[in-house]
Amino acid sequence: MLSYRHGFHAGNFADVLKHGVLTLLGESLLGKEKGFFYLDTHAGAGLYDLASPFARKNREYQSGVARIWVANDVPEELRTYRDIVRALNPDGALRYSPGSSWIIHYLLRPQDRMVLCELHPTEVEALRSRFAGQRRVTVRHDDGYQAMKALLPPAERRGLVLCDPAFELRDERERLLEAAQLAYRRWPTGIFAYWHPIQERRATDWLYRRFRQSGIERLLAVELTMFPETAERRMIGTGLVLVNPPWRLADRLTRLLPWLCDTLRQGPEATWRLEWLAGADD
Ligand code: SAM
Repeated sequence: MLSYRHGFHAGNFADVLKHGVLTLLGESLLGKEKGFFYLDTHAGAGLYDLASPFARKNREYQSGVARIWVANDVPEELRTYRDIVRALNPDGALRYSPGSSWIIHYLLRPQDRMVLCELHPTEVEALRSRFAGQRRVTVRHDDGYQAMKALLPPAERRGLVLCDPAFELRDERERLLEAAQLAYRRWPTGIFAYWHPIQERRATDWLYRRFRQSGIERLLAVELTMFPETAERRMIGTGLVLVNPPWRLADRLTRLLPWLCDTLRQGPEATWRLEWLAGADD
């Protein structure tokens, strides 16, 4: 199918939550000298031009990254993300929004490496040209779920997987859960972030219930919801289920989420949620 193009949504509130949390996860891996491995199963284009016809169609970035760009009270937990956006836009005007791979690439040290999977030919080409000549980066024109089977556990034994599907398929939640269980069996100490859109509470509660039953021992759910539920099942919010969240990440998110919710709110209904689905920091 592959009709989804992330350029339409680049830098929206869901991207800000995803990329803010991703930055914190990436930073948590920098504490040790030993190299880490990063797998981006659904990598997109890596970088998005907010002046492109895609981004200008609905201008979703205006209620997302553009609000972070102008905020003068960005909390400590979001400063690296803000710095990455600033480094991409050195002229002082917001033109580009980083994709997930761009964010981790910013943090990458010589001993670290990343693998980026993408199925859409245009997005694969974009990734190849952005990361051309980068020894630490491998771009695969490949199914991200297959790559999880093929590449995990990595030789490094420490690292992070972002699984960020487009949710074009009706059974994407089932596919994601299946992949999560298999990946956890192969690599029980890896950090995983599973992104999902919130369209109706029922589907999200189902996802959480299934994660709770999965046998994964440490699971943290992070959410930002902007609008009340509608009959059309449009995206009203966004969430990430984190497997093996780093120590004290939940505390950092407790500080970040209220600020993010207030800064990105598009109406009075905006809310945030942080919930351990399994395990907890003690
Ligand atoms: N992770 C990106 C970011 O944060 O910048 C955004 C990714 S976008 C939400 C999802 C991407 O997955 C799309 O570019 C789509 O072409 C790609 N895709 C869809 N099915 C895929 C699959 N089975 N394996 C890999 N990529 C896939």
